[in-house]
Amino acid sequence: MQPQQVTVLGATGSIGSSTLDVISQHPQRYQVFALTAHSRISELQALCVRFQPRFAVVAEAAKAQRLQADLQVAGVATRVLVGPQGLCEVAAHPDVDTVMAAIVGAAGLESVMAAVTAGKKILLANKEALVMSGALFMSAVREHKAQLLPIDSEHNAIFQCLPCNYAEGLEPVGVRRILLTASGGPFRNSSYQTLEQVTPEQACAHPNWSMGQKISVDSATMMNKGLELIEACWLFAARPDQVEVVVHPQSVIHSLVDYVDGSVLAQLGNPDMRTPIAHAMAWPERIDSGVAPLDLCALARMDFVAPDLERFACLRLAIEAAKLGGTAPIALNAANEVAVAAFLQNRLRFTQIPQLIEKVLSLSRVSTVNDLAGVFEIDREARQQAQAWLNKQSISVGV
Ligand code: NAD
Ligand code: MG
Repeated sequence: MQPQQVTVLGATGSIGSSTLDVISQHPQRYQVFALTAHSRISELQALCVRFQPRFAVVAEAAKAQRLQADLQVAGVATRVLVGPQGLCEVAAHPDVDTVMAAIVGAAGLESVMAAVTAGKKILLANKEALVMSGALFMSAVREHKAQLLPIDSEHNAIFQCLPCNYAEGLEPVGVRRILLTASGGPFRNSSYQTLEQVTPEQACAHPNWSMGQKISVDSATMMNKGLELIEACWLFAARPDQVEVVVHPQSVIHSLVDYVDGSVLAQLGNPDMRTPIAHAMAWPERIDSGVAPLDLCALARMDFVAPDLERFACLRLAIEAAKLGGTAPIALNAANEVAVAAFLQNRLRFTQIPQLIEKVLSLSRVSTVNDLAGVFEIDREARQQAQAWLNKQSISVGV
């Protein structure tokens, strides 16, 4: 069997490194074709030395030149490409079989769409891409016969619990609803007064998962669960009212599917992204991921509670955007990206994140878009509105 050629978009991130960990355990099955990074160039260089990919991609020409020269000195034959065009090239290259889409945020949309249009096997971690362009994305998957496998642990769990013929909706296959589990993040039990004082360091310290900064803040606000609800609707042809969020602090049940006969199927495992990554990479086969077996007796108990949509207004806003549909999720996502970046720079309080998003959503007129240019236009407008709101506040965060 020829090894699968894998492009890892966002190789220096948390998902990127878990992916490379799984790949390195199965060198006869997978070969790294291309690796991409935005800022951590020395890390990318070390990965190129280790995995010897055909291509590497970085954001800027000057950095690309330096990396190319350093790799040459190290005797590595990797060719270094630049910018969004380079990302699209390694995502759609005819010699690539599988693309791990693990760039964070809107920045990852164009390259994953290039992979979809080229009919690749897509391992989708970048949920923002689907939130922004769901209808276009799913129809491109069908049109170009791409294979779409969810990496988000909840969606990977749901995929494992659903029958294979769910593409026309959940009702025809006897599914009543999807139960999307949420850890509740680090502030699950914090009062609103405490939330007002939260620092970026506290928000990024997730109790169960080790992840990039943006998704860590999203988990702390529960926007992550809102984005995931929208993601689930697109992936599984579900309506927003067919997806119910349940807070489960131990993060051992990764999600559940509730059937009309009363059967509820769940997927369990230790909270380690190498499990969904290995599942999606090998599907429909199974391979070792390196994750320790689940010890139920050590776990001893599992808790469940309904989410608090008042303290976690981001989740409420995302549910509203999901129900509005059309361009509303694009505006939600853009406003959230601006808000999270501002929070990480101490320009916005934690509790102001939903305030900013609500403002932008109230300004946006819901319509539909027919192409990626339309998606980026709405994204740009929403970012401008978010920036204008930010600039108007003379915020002294005081941390
Ligand atoms: P991260 O911040 O650790 O890594 C992000 C990667 O994207 C890095 O390699 C970075 O170089 C690259 N990147 C950032 N900005 C870029 C830009 N403008 N252009 C090109 N590349 C850019 O993030 P992560 O935690 O690995 O998350 C990646 C994606 O996977 C996110 O969409 C996240 O929601 C999703 N996801 C992550 C986890 C997790 O456990 N980390 C779980 C589920 C889903
Ligand atoms: Mg998730």
